[in-house]
Amino acid sequence: MGTIVIKFGGSSLSTTDKIKQAAKRIANYKEKGKKVVVVVSAMGKTTDQLLQLAEQITENPAKREMDMLLATGEQVSISLLSMALTEMGMPAVSFTGWQAGIVTEKVHSNARIVDVKIDPIERKLSEGKIIVAAGFQGVTEDGEITTLGRGGSDTTAVALAAALGAERCLICTDVTGVYTSDPRYVPQARKLPAISYDEMLELANLGAGVLHPRAVEFAKNHKVSLEVRSSTEDEEGTVIEEEVSMENNLIVRGVAFEKDMTRLTVFGLKNEITGLSSIFSELAKSEIDVDIIIQSQTDGNKTNLSFSIKNKDRQAAVNVLESQKETLGFESIEYEAGLAKVSIVGSGMVSNPGVAAQMFQVLADKDIQIKMVSTSEIKVSAVVEEAKMHAAAQTLHEAFDLGAVAEEVK
Ligand code: ASP
Ligand code: MG
Repeated sequence: MGTIVIKFGGSSLSTTDKIKQAAKRIANYKEKGKKVVVVVSAMGKTTDQLLQLAEQITENPAKREMDMLLATGEQVSISLLSMALTEMGMPAVSFTGWQAGIVTEKVHSNARIVDVKIDPIERKLSEGKIIVAAGFQGVTEDGEITTLGRGGSDTTAVALAAALGAERCLICTDVTGVYTSDPRYVPQARKLPAISYDEMLELANLGAGVLHPRAVEFAKNHKVSLEVRSSTEDEEGTVIEEEVSMENNLIVRGVAFEKDMTRLTVFGLKNEITGLSSIFSELAKSEIDVDIIIQSQTDGNKTNLSFSIKNKDRQAAVNVLESQKETLGFESIEYEAGLAKVSIVGSGMVSNPGVAAQMFQVLADKDIQIKMVSTSEIKVSAVVEEAKMHAAAQTLHEAFDLGAVAEEVK
């Protein structure tokens, strides 16, 4: 008998009615003769509300206590969903993260799963029960409750699927799959039948919120077959797997975009061997995430350096650098806010030169100036003015033919 892991996100469990609906869908899989493990997020906006409660008490909550608090959200959903299933004549049993054997590293608020002790779940599965496990939480070897970072329930689902050798891990959510771009801003966007782990990982890291990047990474490492699909509709979703043929020989699979970026430029940095490491260690100490970095040679002993960060980190970045101007050894800093990053992603790029060139040409034809560029084997990102972000995404979507209806070329 095959095992299947089904994850439901918070928006699919926001009311008791939706919980009952989820129970019906789960019952279908059970009736098909599968062993079923369900992983759930907290109901609706519960996690946000819990965060707000803490904010009302202190600006600086201990991370251990935050994890203790946030872990309660998922505990509400597991018990209610188990009740709903049992009420329908489907015996179910709920498991917290620690009961489900999700062992994590000793890090609060963003822990990684290091082990899954699967025996207790397997025992209940063999008794014919449906398991309803809490996503997003785990326990350290010392018995401390941890959480996996916002959106971390996806990772719990994939980790359980890997440990159980499940035939598939279904991520049921409020969209029907992974799209070529965000359909709210790119009307031609369409659902992809399939996408590779690497492409999905790029898209998830570029802010496609549909899957947590760590969950994709975990699925890739453990070869877990993933499917993103609707929590209410029966239609097929998007399968994420190792090798996916390019439909219609398309080179690009998706266009992603992200706003709220700032480019910061450091002028006249002394060309010392430790120059760069000192600057970026200072930023890292202040927990400022740096994205694209460009260093240009000016003359023999001075260099200029540009990098992109989130708008929200701008003031902190400027403060940190200015306060250490002497030690870091630069002349001045300038920044440009109101920027955005638009990216194209596709495994087909590896063997097709000229994709970046085509992207730059397409943007130039629309008079969209490129401020910074970064590439990986399967991605090209361009930083542009935020006001032109949607236009850039639409143009690229069209130029790379992503609206074309898929023909199966498997
Ligand atoms: N409830 C957590 C969150 O809102 C975890 C999850 O939903 O995956 O981030
Ligand atoms: Mg999510």
